[in-house]
Amino acid sequence: MDEFAHFKLKIDAKPTMFHGKTVRKNLTQSLWLKKIRPQILKENNYTCVICKHHPTEENYKELHVHEIEEYDFDNGVVKLIGLDLICANCHAFQHFKRSQLVLSTEQLDRLIIHFTKVNDCSIEEYKRYRKKLQSFAFEQNIERIISQQKSIRTKINHIRFAIMGDIPFKDLVIERLKQKDVYYEYS
Ligand SMILES: [Zn+2]
Ligand SMILES: [Zn+2]
Repeated sequence: MDEFAHFKLKIDAKPTMFHGKTVRKNLTQSLWLKKIRPQILKENNYTCVICKHHPTEENYKELHVHEIEEYDFDNGVVKLIGLDLICANCHAFQHFKRSQLVLSTEQLDRLIIHFTKVNDCSIEEYKRYRKKLQSFAFEQNIERIISQQKSIRTKINHIRFAIMGDIPFKDLVIERLKQKDVYYEYS
C-alpha cells in the first residue's frame, strides 16, 4: 500500500528529454493570457485546486495555470491531459527539480512547510516521501534511458504535442500547434 496516497500535494518531475517543451510555449501570449487563463481562473473559482488558497483580486498572479502532462517516450510526444489552477507554492512541487535549482535554501524551507501543512504531515514523513521518490525515480530512469535510446534510433529530433483532455479553446490550440508543425494526433 502507498502510505502517501492521501497526500494532496505531491512532487512531480518532468523527464529530461521533454524539458522546456510545453504546449503553452507554442501559443500566442494573447491566446494564453486573454483566453485560456481567464477561463481556467473562473472555472476554478480563483482558488488553488490543491490547497484551496484563494487570493484577493490584486494577487491573482499567485495563481498559476499548470499543464498536466503525460509522456510518450517512443514517439517523443507531450500529451496535455488538462489544465489545473494551482498556487505558486503548490506549483513549485509540480516542477520540483527546477525549483531546487532556482530557489534559495530559505525559499525551499518555506515550501517544505507549505507541503507539511497541505498534507497534514510531519517533516519526517516529508523526508521519507522524498526518499521513496528517489528510489522510484532511479527505476524510472532506467526505463527512460532505454526509451531515449530507442528514440534516438528512430530519429526523434523534434518533440510534438497531443491534446488529450478537454481544455478551453481546444480547437484554437490545435490549429496553432498544426501551424507550427508540432501537432501529434493519436488515432
Ligand atoms: Zn496551493
Ligand atoms: Zn506547471
